[in-house]
Amino acid sequence: MAFPAPCSLCGEELKEPALTGVCRLCWASLEPWRGPACDSCGLPFASERPGDASPALCAACRSGEFQLDRTRSFSLYSGSLRATILQLKFHRRERLGKRLGGLLAQVWDEMEGELAGKRAVLVPVPLHVSRQRERGFNQAELLAQGLAARLEKIRGGRVPQVDARSLGKIRATPPQTGLSVSARHENVRGAFAALRPERIHNKKIVLVDDVMTTGATLSACAQALRSAGAQTVCALTLARATPEFLDTAVGSAGAIVDDIGSGRS
Ligand SMILES: [Zn+2]
Ligand SMILES: [Zn+2]
Repeated sequence: MAFPAPCSLCGEELKEPALTGVCRLCWASLEPWRGPACDSCGLPFASERPGDASPALCAACRSGEFQLDRTRSFSLYSGSLRATILQLKFHRRERLGKRLGGLLAQVWDEMEGELAGKRAVLVPVPLHVSRQRERGFNQAELLAQGLAARLEKIRGGRVPQVDARSLGKIRATPPQTGLSVSARHENVRGAFAALRPERIHNKKIVLVDDVMTTGATLSACAQALRSAGAQTVCALTLARATPEFLDTAVGSAGAIVDDIGSGRS
């Protein structure tokens, strides 16, 4: 990147070289969600659920909708995190992707219970080959690499390995944006498959992606991994889009309107 250049988020001129294009102040504003959340899928709640017995579960987890053992997101899909993810997706920014992946290390400990005793495998949510060719990279893979590198730096030892080849998207799907929850699940059903099931069998898998909205994509991936014999399937995403907060609106017909628009959520 040419220097001096403006910060890609706030537009202020960068005072020092920033290879990711984001200034120090904007980066510091990316903070993990510390409010109340669903114990199982990590969905942030706008307020504490009064009188709720523990564990606190969201409606989807109560009805057993997800195929995942545990899900966590770094923070809400809003404000500067949302702006940074859009930067990552629509401009080829490898360093930004890896740096953002490092943020996931801050919520890694919340999955310790599920991951104990075995070296976990990070599986980025795959793009269909036609989409990956068009974009030139898979942002989820960059995030997984950044997470693995960060964990190695802060704790060393048995850090998870990244496996971006054992799960594939075998069918291209129309974008999820604008679809209702059930239509989203239908849209991605059977779209993913284990390409190397022997690498999945008996493993503790952590799916990695940028944004989780309804969890339909992650559930479809988890289903494919379970069919291949995965022992546990958790998921980590950078951001969580939820109608309880403003940036994701739910339309009158139950259609979820977001600006993710990459053919998945
Ligand atoms: Zn800035
Ligand atoms: Zn939940």
